[in-house]
Amino acid sequence: MVQIPERPAPGAPPVRINLYSDTQTRPSAAMKAAMMEAELGDEQHGDDPTVHALCDRMAALLGKEAAVFLPSGTMANVIAVNVHCRNGDEVLAHETAHILTSEAGTHAAIAGVQIHPLRGPRGMFDADALRAAIRPRSRHSPEQTLLEIEQTANIGGGAVWPLATLTELTGIARDHGWSTHMDGARLMNACVAAGIPAAEMCAGFDSVWLDFTKGLGAPLGAVLAGSQEFIDRAWRWKQRLGGSMRQAGICAAACLYALDNNVDRLAEDHANAKALAAGLRQIEGVVVEEPDTNLVFFDPTGAGMAPAALQAALRGEGIAVSGLGGRLRACTHLDVDAPMIEAALGTIRRLLRG
Ligand SMILES: *Cc1c(COP(=O)(O)O)cnc(C)c1O
Repeated sequence: MVQIPERPAPGAPPVRINLYSDTQTRPSAAMKAAMMEAELGDEQHGDDPTVHALCDRMAALLGKEAAVFLPSGTMANVIAVNVHCRNGDEVLAHETAHILTSEAGTHAAIAGVQIHPLRGPRGMFDADALRAAIRPRSRHSPEQTLLEIEQTANIGGGAVWPLATLTELTGIARDHGWSTHMDGARLMNACVAAGIPAAEMCAGFDSVWLDFTKGLGAPLGAVLAGSQEFIDRAWRWKQRLGGSMRQAGICAAACLYALDNNVDRLAEDHANAKALAAGLRQIEGVVVEEPDTNLVFFDPTGAGMAPAALQAALRGEGIAVSGLGGRLRACTHLDVDAPMIEAALGTIRRLLRG
């Protein structure tokens, strides 16, 4: 029997400091007010003006012809892979990519593709690794048709792919006639950290999506963008997967609010992540990866506590962190401020000393 521990353990204290994930942000009062005031229509029917406003704005932000509103980022990946690939094709992606590790095998189940796992530090790979993965064109080889990149690389520690690397990789893809897709769940974190506009960051990609439920703080929604032809085909998949909605403008309004209010402030999350990493590094034996953005991966084993043991002890003190890829992950976001980071550090120090 698989374990699906998706309810709080009975008797667990309430979470005071939530470093578990930026997905756990709550919509603010002002965001909720914007949702209440949204003009609505039937999204599936093309009649929701707030959804149109969001899609137009996202197409412009991402420098693409068109965009489509979706319930989740996972659906954006599923749709993109289905539009770009045929049954039996091969997708090239990092071995830690969300499409490979965290989407319940959907790309095998629904698109019928296999994913070639590429290696490299911090969730990224370089041109040499990509070239080494190119298969000979023969009737024995699967057809390689899609390059997928995650900006930022989640399990890679929220690492930001340098624009020059992206340009080199998409150039190789173009030379081989592959399509290119960017999983931009945390794209705005990358753009804020690197000081590069989103349209420039994804210029080499045929499709890209942004998640509004990570650091941007909306309750649901992702927007997938690409050429008009790509989006027309994406819409058929959205319908096919049950992703067409009705008065979705109530959620699109939260996304518009997030674009206006929650993008520039991601810099605060990055500063909090750096402060957390610096504090953790001062604890003897703790191995900390330097964060580019809002994800801090650390391993307390050298300080005498296994990651899972520290995670459980912290949870007992009302502090939530996640376990990912054999380490602990602390994620900063708009519901975490600098005093909470200090408080979390104090508790971690005490638990590791005790
Ligand atoms: C969260 C996430 C997704 C999936 O988005 P959902 O909105 O949770 O479906 C995909 N890729 C990455 C890198 C993510 O962090």
